[in-house]
Amino acid sequence: MPRPEIPRCARDDNRAGRVTLVGAGPGDPELLTLKAVRALREADVILVDDLVDRRVLEHAPATARIIDVGKRGGCKSTPQEFIHRLLLREARAGRCVVRLKGGDPFVFGRGGEERDALREAGIAVEVVPGITSGIAAPQAIGIPVSDRRHAQGVIFVTGHAQQDRDEPDWAALARTGMTLVIYMGVAHCARIATRLVAGGLAVDTPAAAIQHAHTPQQRSVVATIGTLADAIASAGLGSPAILVVGSVVRAADAVRVAHGAVPSERRARRAS
Ligand code: SAH
Repeated sequence: MPRPEIPRCARDDNRAGRVTLVGAGPGDPELLTLKAVRALREADVILVDDLVDRRVLEHAPATARIIDVGKRGGCKSTPQEFIHRLLLREARAGRCVVRLKGGDPFVFGRGGEERDALREAGIAVEVVPGITSGIAAPQAIGIPVSDRRHAQGVIFVTGHAQQDRDEPDWAALARTGMTLVIYMGVAHCARIATRLVAGGLAVDTPAAAIQHAHTPQQRSVVATIGTLADAIASAGLGSPAILVVGSVVRAADAVRVAHGAVPSERRARRAS
C-alpha cells in the first residue's frame, strides 16, 4: 500500500508556524533519528548550534534558510534571549522552524528554556530527542557507561561552573561509586580531578576523555583520574570532549589501549 505523503510542516493553523527542537546526536549523520530527518526535510528555517555536524544539514531542503547561532563561530556568543526572539519571529511569520542542537536538546542543551519561552508565547513546540554525547562518546571507544559489572548507575554532570557556587559537589559525587560522565569539563579536568581525589576517589580510578566523538576528528585518551589532565594536555585534546570516570573505563576497547587509538581514529589519522 502506498504510504501517505507526510504533510509539509503540520502547522496548527494557517497563521502560526511551529518550532521543533531537534537533537542532532553527537556527529555522524547516521545517528540522527528518523523524526529528526523528517523535521529537517520540512524546515523553512533552521537555527543551528556550533556543535552540530554540518553533514546533518544535507537533509534540509536547498531552500531552507540556515542560521548559525553557535557560540564558537564568528561571534563569541549568541545571547539566549536573541535566540528566543529569533525563534518567535520566524514562527510568528508562519514558518516551520527547526532548532537543531547537538546531542539531545534536553541534556545540557538549554532546550527546556527554549521550549518554555516558546510555549509562554503561545507557539506550538515539538521536541525530538537525540543521542546524547554522554552515552555516545564513551561508546565510541567501547565503554558501556552503566555496565553492571562496574557500576550501579551513571551520573551526567557539568564540568563547567560559571561561579564557585555553581560547582558540583565533587566530593559527594566521588563517594557515589557511580560512573561519572562529565560534559564541558575538558578545560577544567585538573581541578575536577583534584576535587574528586580530595573527596576520596582512588587516584588510580580509570578515566578517559573523548573529543569529537562520532566525527572524523574523533580522538581519545585513557588514563587514571590522577593522570588524565596530563594525558589530555600531551595529546592536545580540547573541547568538545566528554570525560568518563569510573571502573567502567576498563572496558574501553583493548585494541585502543594497546595502540593508543581506536581503529576508526587510526583510519581518520591516516586519511588526514
Ligand atoms: N546537548 C548535548 C550537550 C551540549 S553541552 C548532548 O546531549 O550531547 C556541550 C558539551 O557536550 C561539550 O562541551 C562536550 O562535553 C559534549 N559534546 C557534545 N558533542 C560531543 C562530541 N561529539 N564528542 C564529545 N563531546 C561532545
